[in-house]
Amino acid sequence: MGSIQLREVTKAFPKSKAAAVDQISLEIADGEFLVLVGPSGCGKSTLLRMIAGIEDVSSGQILIDDADATNAPPKERDIAMVFQSYALYPQMTVAENLHFALKLRKVPKAERIERVDEVMRMLRLKELESRTPGQLSGGQRQRVAMGRAMVREPAAFLMDEPLSNLDAKLRIAMRSELARLHERLGVTTIYVTHDQTEAMTLGQRVAVLRDGRLQQVGTPQELFHEPRNLFVAAFIGSPTINLVEAEVRGGSLRFGGHAIPVPAHARLTDGATVVVGIRPSAFELAELADDAAPRLAVRLEVVENLGDELHAIFPVDAPRVDVEGAVDVEQAGDEQLLVDERALFTAALAPRRPLAPGDEVELAIDTSRLQFFDPESGLALA
Ligand code: ATP
Repeated sequence: MGSIQLREVTKAFPKSKAAAVDQISLEIADGEFLVLVGPSGCGKSTLLRMIAGIEDVSSGQILIDDADATNAPPKERDIAMVFQSYALYPQMTVAENLHFALKLRKVPKAERIERVDEVMRMLRLKELESRTPGQLSGGQRQRVAMGRAMVREPAAFLMDEPLSNLDAKLRIAMRSELARLHERLGVTTIYVTHDQTEAMTLGQRVAVLRDGRLQQVGTPQELFHEPRNLFVAAFIGSPTINLVEAEVRGGSLRFGGHAIPVPAHARLTDGATVVVGIRPSAFELAELADDAAPRLAVRLEVVENLGDELHAIFPVDAPRVDVEGAVDVEQAGDEQLLVDERALFTAALAPRRPLAPGDEVELAIDTSRLQFFDPESGLALA
């Protein structure tokens, strides 16, 4: 068993104005893989540490397997934590590192040998068993850290950015390894990351946090297609969703000299101003699209060719819509784009023909995929 329930869990550090974790309620089912994601400082690690019992809860309740564990010491929680710093004992071999976790818990020797052996086989650590951590690569060390958590056979794993010290390729490889392991073991896992791609690929459900508050929890599909607010819309998805303020007039959405028909699924009042969200993948080169699809005539400013996808970036003559904290400038990679005051849109296109900066093209929009938000509250409009 390993269900975890959070009831209005709050953490207020002394002397800080806002709560680091603010009344978070969340239910994690036995066997579920849940990812907590959000920008730096949103409270992910603090929440995880409270679940582990290494940080006090200011108010609220934590239930593990339906029993109140709010004030239980960490070792009574039957939970194993895996950190980004591997915290392996440097003088011990791989096998000794795994054994030690069980020795501490006074597991009899015969059972220890059996469990360590099984985990080493599962994580392909057998051939490394006599090496010390200093003789391992980053990925191998991460596997040992995982192994140390696994031999305990806990009711739940808590993982705090466990892959962030690995290079990009290895991180992706370890991600699928983790997913496979979860599939096999079926142990409840709460995984913290600031990387939305990691969250979307790993999580059966994803909980998005901002400033200590839960914004939305749902499947990756739900967060991507039905974000509850502008923050979730802008935080989830790569490239980032295109946002622009539009006026609803005479059945059209008007922005930056463009007018496209209000799609059937939108219930918008004439005369209203709304924020329109257009996923980069909702664009297509007009010549490849259905004749009926509305189009935008645009002039490309930047073209990024990724091989199997092409990102065409073009300005829209309307002010940029900023969503504070949602876009990581470093991750976006293009600080230049964020300096511009105009809205810069990205279309993710199939590279059917060469495109270059300065090209004037017509792009069709799949308006059935448009999302709408209230400009004041940022909430999605149904
Ligand atoms: P990151 O991804 O950067 O680790 P995070 O989302 O995990 O960020 P936390 O580490 O949980 O965020 O921090 C949440 C907030 O609580 C931050 O504003 C942080 O400065 C504050 N905080 C964390 N630990 C303490 C502490 N011991 N005392 C005071 N404030 C703290």
